[in-house]
Amino acid sequence: MPTFTVSCSVLVALLLTSAPHAAAAQPSAGMPQPPADLIVTNGRIYTADPARPLVDAFAVRGGRVVFTGSAREAKALAGPATTVVDANGRTVIPGMVDGHAHFSGLAQKLRSVDLVGTRSLDEVIARVVERARRTPKGAWIVGRGWDQNAWGHTAFPTHEALSAATPDHPVLLERVDGHAAYVNAAAMQRAGLTAATKDPSGGRIVRDTKGNPTGVLIDRASSLVERQVPPLSRQEMRAALRDAVARMHSLGLVGMHDAGASREQIELFADMAQQGELNLRVYVMIADDATALDHYFQMGPRSALYDGQLWVRAVKLYADGAMGSRGAALLEPYSDDPNNSGLLLSAPAHIEDVARRGLAAGFQVNTHAIGDRGNRVVLDAYEKALDARPTANHRFRVEHAQILHQDDIPRFAQLGVIPSMQASHQTSDMYWIGKRLGPTRLYGAYAWQSLLQTGVVIPNGSDFPVEEVNPLISFHASIARQDARDWPAGGWYPEQRMSREDALRSMTLWPAYAGFQEQLMGSITPGKYADFVVLDQDIMRIPADLVLRTRVLSTWLAGRLVYKTPH
Ligand SMILES: [Zn+2]
Repeated sequence: MPTFTVSCSVLVALLLTSAPHAAAAQPSAGMPQPPADLIVTNGRIYTADPARPLVDAFAVRGGRVVFTGSAREAKALAGPATTVVDANGRTVIPGMVDGHAHFSGLAQKLRSVDLVGTRSLDEVIARVVERARRTPKGAWIVGRGWDQNAWGHTAFPTHEALSAATPDHPVLLERVDGHAAYVNAAAMQRAGLTAATKDPSGGRIVRDTKGNPTGVLIDRASSLVERQVPPLSRQEMRAALRDAVARMHSLGLVGMHDAGASREQIELFADMAQQGELNLRVYVMIADDATALDHYFQMGPRSALYDGQLWVRAVKLYADGAMGSRGAALLEPYSDDPNNSGLLLSAPAHIEDVARRGLAAGFQVNTHAIGDRGNRVVLDAYEKALDARPTANHRFRVEHAQILHQDDIPRFAQLGVIPSMQASHQTSDMYWIGKRLGPTRLYGAYAWQSLLQTGVVIPNGSDFPVEEVNPLISFHASIARQDARDWPAGGWYPEQRMSREDALRSMTLWPAYAGFQEQLMGSITPGKYADFVVLDQDIMRIPADLVLRTRVLSTWLAGRLVYKTPH
């Protein structure tokens, strides 16, 4: 057995038992300490620190936690300038971290007109007109989320009403499923779309009896117009990223792992962090691009840049596709498509090669794998790279790890590989995944408990903007394996549920471990950043179905208030 296996288990054990700076930072008799900057008291404070899981109070100095314990002891640390926050018995948890999401994707989504839930074409047009009023003439308006099935009839709309309402802006509105676009005359004109335009392969232009485009483009035909939309300028992107951070703060997130960022994006995050306008702990995974990898590998791993706002020490690869489109690579064909077993997006040799180079350069390698074959291919590639270069503490990850063959479940712990899983995918997919896979393979689907029992940790996440940003959706899915309407009764394969304690760790301590950050964040522990969230309900005790109705009252980053509920 290679040596790294042992080392990893030891590290996980250490992570679960020790609080790195606790001994030094706790107040001790005869050692006068300067007063705290901030004391949070009278709360039900779930620290996620195994040494002291539930306390009444904690104190903060210089952006770090310096004490956790009783209200009486905390009070002794107060000075004339100390801010005291009375939590009034409310629940406090560590600042949450999304272990797998897309920062720039969310920024872009927030910039587009949200059409989800519109009940008529008039309502869609009204929202677009409202946006047009504050958009310079000639600039594109992009929206998404319409669904004609919610309009009382199921026919696609035609462009005339939209074109008349927005004569001065090209408009592109994506359907809720992303498989169709509704565009106006100005957009068609920009794209040169006429009766003479041929349908592209894999797409269809909806036409009237004379062959003129009516304004709806199906599948690949959307790209005829989409490619005319310019990317956001650096200035627009910056503003959009700030909006995305504000959204995260409002939902209790203080950090996220960005699952695939380009060099340009990483440099923008760095610039924002340097200017003090990021206010988020971003753990980036560099997107798989030969030039970018060379650049960053040469630079070496970098952690906690700009006072703990940016980590550049991980790479993101793709092994396969997704389950919904039957692109996930399976060991046996899809149950509802017997000639199809999905496909690999990267050659196994490529994954192994990047894994070897990552080990040599000190970078973590994180590979998207959904199907059981995709997962096996990644584990095999990691294993070969690790055999060639045994490395302690590599913390390589599989992103999603959705469908696992029973034989592969123990391999994560054996190899020291972290399954990074998004619980909300389970509740989104459970309605149809049985058709794709048949009953037997579902025993290895979203198999959180089977994995936890082997000794691994599971960083949780949302994969936003694919799913909602709210981390409590994944917390709820983790403990209930039910949707917002409590379906199915008793939970979907409920034996795979997480305990609430594990679910809380999966959004705090475990993403910190998966990002080499557990010395600095992930729990309310002396020595760590004072990142925390005040909730209006006790998510560790209320019935599971009330978790989704929990609201964030305030979010704090390094002891500084970054969000407060308006009411
Ligand atoms: Zn993703």
